[in-house]
Amino acid sequence: MGFSQKMETANLPWNAIAQEPKATLRIGQAIKPGSPDDLHPSGPMVLLSAHSQGLSRSLRPGWQVDSKEYDVLIIGGGIIGLSTAMQLVHKYPGRLRVAVVEKEDHLATHQTGHNSGVIHSGIYYRPGSQKAAFCVGGARRLRQFCEENEIEFQQCGKTIVATNESELGRLETLYQRGVDNGVQGLELVGSERLNEIEPYVHGIKALWASQTGIIDYVKVASAYAFRFQQEGGDIYTGAAVHQISENDGSLAVTTLKGVLHAKHLINCAGLYADRVAEMTGELTNLRIIPFRGEYYTLRPESQYMVKGLIYPVPDPDFPFLGVHFTRNIHGQVEAGPNAVLALSREGYQKSDINLAECWGTVTYPGFWKMSARYWRTGMAEVHRSYSKGVFVRDLQKLIPGIQSQDLAAGGAGVRAQAVSKDGALLDDFSILQGRKAIHVLNAPSPGATSSLTIGEHIVGLADEAFRLGD
Ligand SMILES: Cc1cc2nc3c(=O)[nH]c(=O)nc-3n(C[C@H](O)[C@H](O)[C@H](O)COP(=O)(O)OP(=O)(O)OC[C@H]3O[C@@H](n4cnc5c(N)ncnc54)[C@H](O)[C@@H]3O)c2cc1C
Repeated sequence: MGFSQKMETANLPWNAIAQEPKATLRIGQAIKPGSPDDLHPSGPMVLLSAHSQGLSRSLRPGWQVDSKEYDVLIIGGGIIGLSTAMQLVHKYPGRLRVAVVEKEDHLATHQTGHNSGVIHSGIYYRPGSQKAAFCVGGARRLRQFCEENEIEFQQCGKTIVATNESELGRLETLYQRGVDNGVQGLELVGSERLNEIEPYVHGIKALWASQTGIIDYVKVASAYAFRFQQEGGDIYTGAAVHQISENDGSLAVTTLKGVLHAKHLINCAGLYADRVAEMTGELTNLRIIPFRGEYYTLRPESQYMVKGLIYPVPDPDFPFLGVHFTRNIHGQVEAGPNAVLALSREGYQKSDINLAECWGTVTYPGFWKMSARYWRTGMAEVHRSYSKGVFVRDLQKLIPGIQSQDLAAGGAGVRAQAVSKDGALLDDFSILQGRKAIHVLNAPSPGATSSLTIGEHIVGLADEAFRLGD
């Protein structure tokens, strides 16, 4: 399947399906909330300091938009929207009016600010898939971008550990996939070498990926935004888009701060990408289902047990990687994330319930087909989410010495996972090209690693579909 598919366009005008207002209900408080500032202490502030240096007149919460007209409007100020914005203005210096609209008061607040911070090397993905190509190339370009922009990253390497004989076949398949995808520095190692790399891990064999790294993606997104603004782009924050209509070839995009006009749109709205696509009248045949990933944090005195990144051999039928250990760029060690169905698209706590969004999920036929297919895995994930003992038992398969008292409650992230009408979890990235808009409909992990190559691809699509060069 190719990376971009021509959009199936509904025979509808650019209608105006308003986003449902949030009806968030909190019941109890079972897990400590995650916040991007916890995981990335210097995150969004970098961007605000860019603003305070006078680079942007638009990054100002409380500002009312003033009916400005743009050539391209990008909806969503996460890492993919910002990468696309940066590369678009760079390709057409001074020739395109481009803006990013973001509903939150800060950029990179959702998936970009709540992830594991791993620069994936490209092992897991089917050769020939979009994820494989964009991740391998994206990791290379990201490292180069970071060197040029003085953003810290570490190439700490990662082990994928087989803990019993039944996992050996899958481990070797992963090795072969990595090689086929062009990942450098892969090595299958025995238990002796594994214990040199990770002395506290128990495993009979492991795949050592020396190129895998760690980074703070909020800093990367901030750098993209900074460069975008330097080249003349505008960013509107606190400006949730809730209606899109077409009039005389121009699109009127109604935000909470007023109306902006654009010739073309790029939808990078992450957890709400399907909703934004609906606002434009596009039929996508899929729905974003939110999967929360919850983390524990190793207490400082227990962090010595993890040197780099330690992963299990993943379940080949499930698009998530299994709970693992990640030493992040700020020096903390996290364990997780799991993958449980979230009852709100931005539900970072178990207690977050959005009734309208739950209704949207349960009335989607694909949800029930997905549930029938994955109910066993889903129940196990929920059980582990509520039982620290079960979580610890799974972690002990990798590090037998880990005990419950080594772990403190950590943060959480919510993955935007697209599910098709037949209940399949979309395995690959999905970017659809409409007549006046491009929609990024499935960009889960390794979306942050791949942000530069995805952005470059979208610019190529926009160039062709919107005839930007004319
Ligand atoms: C738990 C977890 C762990 C992960 N780990 C990794 C990892 O280690 N490595 C990796 O490469 N990837 C990882 N990922 C995936 C990665 O985080 C995503 O692929 C990437 O952040 C997607 O970026 P985005 O810009 O599409 O989405 P987002 O960062 O979610 O940005 C979308 C933006 O759109 C805005 N928006 C939504 N609706 C509207 C609207 N109506 N109007 C205006 N704005 C709107 C949102 O507020 C948001 O800021 C992980 C993800 C999660 C959740």
